[in-house]
Amino acid sequence: MAITAIRNGRRRPCRWLPSLCLAALAYSEGALAQRVESLGPEVRKYLRVSTPKVILEHVQIIDGSGAAPIPDQNIAIEAGTFPSPHLDVTGPFLDGPGNPILQVRELAGPEDARQTVAFWADRGVTSFKAYTHITRDELRAAVQEAHRRGLKVTGHLCSVTYDEAIEIGIDNLEHGFFANTALDPGKKPDSCSEAQGDYTLLHMSPGSGEANRLIATLVRNHVAITSTLPGLASTVARESVGGAPPLRPAVLEAMAPFLREAYGYWRDRPRSPQSNAALLLQRNMDLERAFVAAGGLLLAGPDPVGIGGLLPGFGDQREIELLVEAGFTPVQAIRIATLNGAIFLGRQEQVGSIAVGKNADLVVMKGDPATRIADIENVDIVFKDGVGYDTRKLLESVKGRYGEY
Ligand SMILES: [Zn+2]
Repeated sequence: MAITAIRNGRRRPCRWLPSLCLAALAYSEGALAQRVESLGPEVRKYLRVSTPKVILEHVQIIDGSGAAPIPDQNIAIEAGTFPSPHLDVTGPFLDGPGNPILQVRELAGPEDARQTVAFWADRGVTSFKAYTHITRDELRAAVQEAHRRGLKVTGHLCSVTYDEAIEIGIDNLEHGFFANTALDPGKKPDSCSEAQGDYTLLHMSPGSGEANRLIATLVRNHVAITSTLPGLASTVARESVGGAPPLRPAVLEAMAPFLREAYGYWRDRPRSPQSNAALLLQRNMDLERAFVAAGGLLLAGPDPVGIGGLLPGFGDQREIELLVEAGFTPVQAIRIATLNGAIFLGRQEQVGSIAVGKNADLVVMKGDPATRIADIENVDIVFKDGVGYDTRKLLESVKGRYGEY
């Protein structure tokens, strides 16, 4: 399941499988040898590569470490025996009273928050997300119980400001700087403000004393920030003169028919005459760059909530592209989306970059994303624990299905 060697590429003919021009397969007797027979028929349908050992020849390594790309390398991969994705399961939202989303349970106080964290942690949940109406006392109780068990808490906040959450000991803040309500007019302790953070973001210029102080507090307390740019970016595009840009055909094809229709309604809705969306997006991008420049740990996610045509996977690629639009270099953006997440989870010794001894989890793509970030959309093979899956077959299998469940 690991990467066993990385060497300079030497030009020699692709002897073993000429049809796979970038990968030559060499058979060996590894103890962890992957045999295609060991995988169930459902998994086998999607296999592109499954052998005891795979050598990718003459590839350019764009490493999650943020280092300069290294051209013409050979990577040897030892396969493993675990075909399904690695999943981290998070608990239900931890929220206080007043959330209009009926499915979200309201906590009854700090002891309820503690018990809820304990209940789900006992059943294998590895992280928690506090939500927009949680009280400070509930958040504190949840964080204490999670930390006692070595687990982390993130938050999409409103009722609790970023400074309050940092003081409480939260580990990560979702949605960049969009959800900080510290400067919102009429903000009352423990309750979500009407502006829901928009006012604060519009009044916190990058480089201002307030912004610098917040960023320094985040960095000093090792609180990470998760950037989720695609949602607002799709709203900005919808409200621009030309309307939303067409989605990639593969995204539309993956949607269940009702979801495709809902996306169409969303896209064609009347545009708001006084939208701050473009300014909010730009302000948040600038603050995220300042946060990274100050030494902050920025993570990346697509926030695929069903609005704006955002789907997992495709949305992750869009997020990386938007980080480049925000001013990060392509290699920095790739690091934010790979190694930084591994660092946050404490798994940087196993995953997150390409190195000997690390898990053989990597994607092979056509092109050069280090200079043209849109090439990250051209994924050819996905290696998971050393088994190579065929991207086209995987996408074919989800056509018309996303959103069904
Ligand atoms: Zn959220």
